[in-house]
Parts: sequence; structure tokens; C-alpha cells
Amino acid sequence: MLHSNLSISNTGHLMIGGADVVELAVKYGTPLYIIDEDRVRENCRTYLKALRTHLPHGSKVLYASKALCYAGIFKVMKEESVCIDIVSAGELYTALRAGFPAENMFFHGNSKPDIEIEYAINAGVGHFVVDSAEELEKIDMHAGRMRKIQKVLLRVTPNIDTHTHKKIATGTIDCKFGTPIETGQAEQFVKTILAKKNVRLDGLHCHVGSQIFDEMPYCQAAEVMTDFIADLYKKTGWMPEYLNLGGGFGVRYTEEDPAIDYAGWIERLGEKLKTLCAERGIPVPALLLEPGRSIVGDAGITVYSVTGVKEIPGHASYVAVDGGMTDNPRYALYEAKYTMLLANKPKKPKNYLCTVAGRCCESGDLLGENISIQKPVKGDLLTVLTTGAYNYSMASNYNRVPRPAMVAVKEGKDFLAVRRESFEDLIALDTL
Ligand SMILES: *Cc1c(COP(=O)(O)O)cnc(C)c1O
Repeated sequence: MLHSNLSISNTGHLMIGGADVVELAVKYGTPLYIIDEDRVRENCRTYLKALRTHLPHGSKVLYASKALCYAGIFKVMKEESVCIDIVSAGELYTALRAGFPAENMFFHGNSKPDIEIEYAINAGVGHFVVDSAEELEKIDMHAGRMRKIQKVLLRVTPNIDTHTHKKIATGTIDCKFGTPIETGQAEQFVKTILAKKNVRLDGLHCHVGSQIFDEMPYCQAAEVMTDFIADLYKKTGWMPEYLNLGGGFGVRYTEEDPAIDYAGWIERLGEKLKTLCAERGIPVPALLLEPGRSIVGDAGITVYSVTGVKEIPGHASYVAVDGGMTDNPRYALYEAKYTMLLANKPKKPKNYLCTVAGRCCESGDLLGENISIQKPVKGDLLTVLTTGAYNYSMASNYNRVPRPAMVAVKEGKDFLAVRRESFEDLIALDTL
């Protein structure tokens, strides 16, 4: 199986985290997201352990909430001693309601509305990751009004091309995020922050992209960032406590994708960082990493019912399911590849080549093309693997399709993490 938390039961059903996927589909209905909470925790621990072993005290894992955001996930992160990165007051509110401490939050985003900046400062958010001069002014002003010193990091762009999809590449000079080092603007920005009365600059941040399978971009980023730090120290006397190298570690969606040894990456990145700092005569900063996809991606699957099979001889075979771009827009957005199978007959040969079609009124509403699955009939449980990240968090109500429920599995037991949307939920905002 693609991931070690997946297996096949004696009765010939797909299992995740020790739970029978067919039984869960019967119990909760389809489409259904299933999240293996044990796997989420295991992924957190892999990162934490590697950071504790190979990097200075104070290094932290920041879970990128946008990958999968619901109240329960923040309880898990709190229990696992993981900090979080949030990008909106909505994520902030969800985390607060789940009892997650505001001090351990990092507020990201290239376009934070004033009202959300005020809300976050009032709530006691630990750090802002500053991305514009206007944002800095607003933070300084509001923190002053609240008689607080707000801690911040500055997001810069190291100008590194990661060879990932352009919609998820974020480290280049012309990108909408961050302030470029190359143009001298980042240095100027640091000086501006240091001169602010109500703001304390704790470190620098960069994030080069997502779904990265190569260690090189992180090592290159470490090189560019330590150069920048050494140069800044000479010019200003400021030394960062934290260096945040972002997230983006790749996840295996198909057998062709390599399996990544995240702990090995962190160990080598730690060595590289120590060498770079020694060469530049600067102390090794505490390292912050912001994995999203690689914490929750392989912990999730989505189960659909096949509603029909349409064969157009010589052209295409469509397998239609009771969900689609409303619960997983990633194929429609950037042709993201997935592994699929039928959960009720996973041992049968995967020799049926097809296009998996969603139910929405868009030709582009597909979950995949050239997909090999077991020969399907109506009622089979088509299951898409590795949907823990950027599925539920990107879901919509297009065509007024209610969002699926999400069931969590922990130590083989299942419980509802997010209930299915009802028709009442769909009209809850409408004036009748
Ligand atoms: C999206 C994002 C992440 C997480 O990326 P993954 O690919 O999910 O690990 C981390 N940091 C920032 C700033 C991001 O925008």
C-alpha cells in the first residue's frame, strides 16, 4: 500500500489506522473524509524529535493550519506541543475555540485586513509574520494603543526556484509574498522594523514552495538567509532568535513519488545550517519549520460511492462519484495526481483505466484522468488516498453540494470530527 497506515482486512476491505473503510462508509455515509489521527500525531513527533535532536533549543514545528483546519486538529496540535501557523482570523478563531494557546500562533499572510490585525493582537497572538509596510504600521499602532510589544518575524524572498508547480512556488523575487533580499528592500524593511517602538523583531522567515521532493532548495535558502543575517548583523547589530525556513516538504501521492525521510532531511539541514553559521561567524538560530501537507496529507482518505460508469468506445470511460471538485478541487486547480482504489474490493486487479468524474456542472470537475482502479459498478466505494491536506480546507458549496462529514480514527476507534453539512446549513445565511 502507498502508506503504512493502510492495509487490507481479512474480509477484503481497505483499512486505515485499524478501521474498516467500508464499515465507516456505511455508518457515516458518503462522500466521507477519514482522518487517521494516530498518523497525524506520528508525523508531528517525527518532526519534533528531529528538531530536538539536531537543532538548537527553541526550535519549533509550526503546523500550517491551512492544510486542514477544524477544531479537533488544534486539540491534537496542542497535545503534541506543536505551534501553528494561521493565515486568517477565521483560523485564529477556530484554534482559540479549540483551546489552542494564542501565544503559540504565528499569523501569516500577504494581505491581513486591519480588523484581523487588531483581533489577533487583542487575542494575544505570539508572532506576526510581517509581509508589508502597511501591515507593520498597523501592528505598531495597535500594539501601542494596547500597551503591548508585539513580536514579529519578517517574511523575505530568497529568490529560489523550486521546480514545483508555479501556483505553489513562493520563493521567487517576483512572487506576491515577502520582500526581496536581492533588491535591498528586505534590509531596509528590517531597519524600519527595528526603529518601531511597539514591535520586536524576533527573526526572519522564508517559504520556498510546496510539494518539494528535493532537499536542495532548503539548503540554498539556509545559505541565502545566513548570508543576509551576517550582513544585517554587521550593519545593524541585530541578530535573529529564529530562522523560519517555511514548509513545503513533499508528500507521496502516487507510487512514482519518492517516500521522503523527513528526519533525515532535518538532520542534514541542521548540519548545513551549523556549518553555514560557523563560516559566517554567527550563532545558530533556533529553526522554525512549517509543515502542513506532510503532517496531515497521508493521514487522510476520501470515500465516495460510484453513481455510474459511462463508456464512450474509443474515447473515454467515466466513473462518476457522489462528490468531486466541491470536496477536492486540486485536480481542477492544478491537475494534482492521486492514487485511487475500490475500498470494497481492493484485492481485485487494478486494470480498469478511467477518468473519475465529480458531480458538478463543469467539464473540468474531475478527480483524475488515466486512473487505474478495480473494475467498478454502481455502489462501489471509490477511495482517493492522501487527501488529508488541501481537500476539506479547500471545499466549497458549489452547486449547493453539502460538504462531507469527516470522521477521525484513533487507536482503531472512530468518532465524528466534523459533521456532514445539512440542507439547513446550506440556507443558514440566506434571507428567506
Ligand atoms: C502553505 C504554507 C506552508 C505549508 O506548506 P506545505 O506544503 O503544506 O507544507 C508553510 N508556510 C507558509 C508560509 C505557507 O504559505
